[in-house]
Amino acid sequence: MKEKKQNILIIGAGLCGSLLALRLGQRGYNVTVYEKRPDLRKVDISAGRSINLAFSDRGNKGMKLVGLEEEVKKLCIPMNGRMIHDKEGNTFMSNYSGRDCEYINSISREDLNSLLLTEAEKHENVKIHFNKGCKRVDFENTTAEFKDYVDNSVFIEDADVIIATDGAGSALRKSYYLGKKFLFSFSQDYLTHGYKELSILPTEDGGYKTFKNALHIWPRGDFMIIALPNLDGSFTVTLFLSYDDGKYNFNNLTTPEIVTEFFQKEFPDALEIMPNLVNDFFENPTAPLGTIKCSPWHYKGNTLLMGDSAHAIVPFYGQGMNASFEDVVEFDAVLDEGHDNWEAIFKAYEKRRKKDTDAIADLAIDNFHEMKDHVGQAIFQEKRKIEMALEKEFPEDYSSKYSLVTFNEVIGYREAMLRGRAQDKAILNMLSDGEISTALDLTDKNVLKEILGKVKKQTEAILEDDRIAGLY
Ligand SMILES: Cc1cc2nc3c(=O)[nH]c(=O)nc-3n(C[C@H](O)[C@H](O)[C@H](O)COP(=O)(O)OP(=O)(O)OC[C@H]3O[C@@H](n4cnc5c(N)ncnc54)[C@H](O)[C@@H]3O)c2cc1C
Repeated sequence: MKEKKQNILIIGAGLCGSLLALRLGQRGYNVTVYEKRPDLRKVDISAGRSINLAFSDRGNKGMKLVGLEEEVKKLCIPMNGRMIHDKEGNTFMSNYSGRDCEYINSISREDLNSLLLTEAEKHENVKIHFNKGCKRVDFENTTAEFKDYVDNSVFIEDADVIIATDGAGSALRKSYYLGKKFLFSFSQDYLTHGYKELSILPTEDGGYKTFKNALHIWPRGDFMIIALPNLDGSFTVTLFLSYDDGKYNFNNLTTPEIVTEFFQKEFPDALEIMPNLVNDFFENPTAPLGTIKCSPWHYKGNTLLMGDSAHAIVPFYGQGMNASFEDVVEFDAVLDEGHDNWEAIFKAYEKRRKKDTDAIADLAIDNFHEMKDHVGQAIFQEKRKIEMALEKEFPEDYSSKYSLVTFNEVIGYREAMLRGRAQDKAILNMLSDGEISTALDLTDKNVLKEILGKVKKQTEAILEDDRIAGLY
């Protein structure tokens, strides 16, 4: 395929679209991007969208691909682990890994998106247009209809290929669904919980009011708040809470008094450093959380869905953006395979990618329960203690599920999920049966070696059972 002459139209200049535009620009394609919002480098449009994100190794593969790893590092605040806050205000740190080199980062969505846009625009063959929203896509004729939000005009663009990176509410996905021209499967599952962003402001001299290098969690069983640091000394706090259930929920937190009472009872140490709580609570929107799966991701060789438009997930593994960046890396690898036409490229891409994005969608739901509930339970903390000791002592031989998913970017999400779930089951079973215990001397290499042997044996047995049961 004479790829360099091709005109590619990208819908959506968010995180995935701007990285894709940059990469395809580097490869020499003629790329035109249409974004419905104003240029975020010129107008503040962050309100209501997650302000900062956990950025980790899979996302970093995308930055390495386009040569931006060092630039992105400057925007990152390392978070070495979860800092758990109980109701009495006691805290304890649970590191993400026993290996010092493994940590996640807090990064500003706006700064990262801005950097990618600026880098993409450095290529003469990449043009980005803002304030132009896609209304529908004629996927049979490879054209898209846009509305210009500045002068209200409507226009149609054509291209050799259209790639939609327009997020969870994708216009292309909607056109596939409404078009009924081919067998398009689509599912959207909402959690009964929504989220709202709040904040912990910096100290007067720009410092952090609580420990900077952690992802803070206040787990309360059915709900939680989390906080991630920003470069200016503030934290973005997110409340995850049911819309309807429980004594306190989004539908009944309707007055400043009830909101304050809720925080006083459940998150007293957070309330102390959140004097702006009531303002934030009533100014910021409450938004739903859902998982979107669909297939196929493409129509013949004309159009393709990528990023959240193909696979939106709940945010509890901190992997949605990372997965969307990994999409670009995988797509780029398929381009290198030398297929003759776009249809073959799209097919090969979906075949190698979909099993992994399905897996991270399921893992993200698992982590919802882990974060709001399990992290506060004794048996879970014992499991983490053993895993940390194993990772420290045998860095080459053991990786927890979290490490496999987050730091082991050479394997796919699906492999990480299967192995990680089997390991979790093995350790929890053995802890319950008293076969292993944190009462053992976890500083003794021989003790740990024995535990590692048991965990590996049990894990293999569970994986074998799963194989026989046809679970994979
Ligand atoms: C509360 C929350 C917290 C999260 N935390 C994390 C985290 O810690 N780590 C992580 O990896 N991920 C996280 N995510 C997920 C992450 O935000 C998404 O996976 C990521 O933004 C997907 O990138 P995208 O480019 O595919 O979609 P988006 O970022 O949604 O970008 C889509 C772009 O398309 C534009 N657009 C939409 N419709 C149209 C249209 N019709 N025409 C033209 N343009 C259009 C939008 O304006 C936007 O710029 C979180 C998500 C939420 C909701």
